[in-house]
Amino acid sequence: MSGSALYETFARAPLAFDHGEGTWLVTEKGERYLDFAGGIAVNSLGHGHPHLVAALTEQASKLWHVSNLYEIPGQARLGERLADATFADKVFFTNSGAEALECAIKTARRYHFVKGHPERFRIITFEGAFHGRTLATIAAGGQYKYLEGFGPKVDGFDQVPFDDMEAAEKAITPETAAILIEPVQGEGGIRPVPTQSLKKLRQLCEQHGLLLIYDEVQCGIGRTGKLFAYEWSGVAPDIMAIAKGIGGGFPMGACLATNEAAVGMTAGVHGTTFGGNPLAMAVGNAVLDVVLEDGFLQDVQRKALLLKQGLAAISDEFPEVIEGIRGTGLMLGLKCAMPNGKVNMALRDQHLLTVPAGDNVIRLLPPLTVTDAEIHEALERIRAGAKGLAAEIAAAAN
Ligand SMILES: *Cc1c(COP(=O)(O)O)cnc(C)c1O
Repeated sequence: MSGSALYETFARAPLAFDHGEGTWLVTEKGERYLDFAGGIAVNSLGHGHPHLVAALTEQASKLWHVSNLYEIPGQARLGERLADATFADKVFFTNSGAEALECAIKTARRYHFVKGHPERFRIITFEGAFHGRTLATIAAGGQYKYLEGFGPKVDGFDQVPFDDMEAAEKAITPETAAILIEPVQGEGGIRPVPTQSLKKLRQLCEQHGLLLIYDEVQCGIGRTGKLFAYEWSGVAPDIMAIAKGIGGGFPMGACLATNEAAVGMTAGVHGTTFGGNPLAMAVGNAVLDVVLEDGFLQDVQRKALLLKQGLAAISDEFPEVIEGIRGTGLMLGLKCAMPNGKVNMALRDQHLLTVPAGDNVIRLLPPLTVTDAEIHEALERIRAGAKGLAAEIAAAAN
């Protein structure tokens, strides 16, 4: 496979899939892979979910796109459902996570602008964060490897160490507009932020008139066993960016806000051509139909426990390969005791797909619809992979 006409920006695995069935991906040659990568937390309901296929095909035969020049009933409906299910009153639909973050950042800046404080535009962020690849979101993420060579870093982002609430407090100045945080860091290595810390941030925001922004692009839409990860803490934000899982594989995202936080987002100040189009909205509504079904999220929590306990046993057995398990719900990380790329490869050899992350972690992000049998199968494959790597380490030591 030579993708020679493509930008070389991705180090792709030498694998091409022909179709998917639930938690499985099948190559053109008919080889089956257990998909615990989930398109990086995007395939929330697996591949080819009948309800999503029906919603997409039905909408496809009616209407794809009209632009936001006109009313889009499916968009109004999905917006209302997201508002009903969260802290939010208002929703803006986008095509990606980065665009949802752009909207969140603009919403926070506009809020202070219309309140008579245009000087308040800076946003505090945390090390290890990932917020996307646009110019503003690489500045927000603050990672040098994503900023290098792209000119001056977009101004207005002040980064403090992960989960360092004292540093966050010290970073607040008269120019600060907001604090932006992932309740569970994804790319950064599956690092949940303690409830106490979110409470502290909420309190700092109240005290200093700042807006609290959550990035739930990866941890939202049932991934942690609640519709949104912040529900575990009970600490609501003022603004929240979502994407990935809400589309179940259809590219879409959204920025959610309270009426108060969205006060500056009036007619004409922001826009999108594709965002919220009828196709995307049909799929987004269908994803919510399933995730909000009675008992669905409780079952995610139950399955997550099963997976986590199994992983802990493997880590106990092969600490020289996997030194610990972290994360919550079906957003789990294997903290590796050897290079995570090697572990990822060994699991791929077992026909189990996973995603490397920062901090030498391997991410497991199976569809929320994963079955108990598939969890047991994945655990067997992880055990086999770890056993092989442990044997290699032992052989090298002799
Ligand atoms: C993936 C991700 C983004 C960016 O989403 P894109 O759709 O790739 O633009 C932003 N924030 C978090 C937490 C993510 O995981």
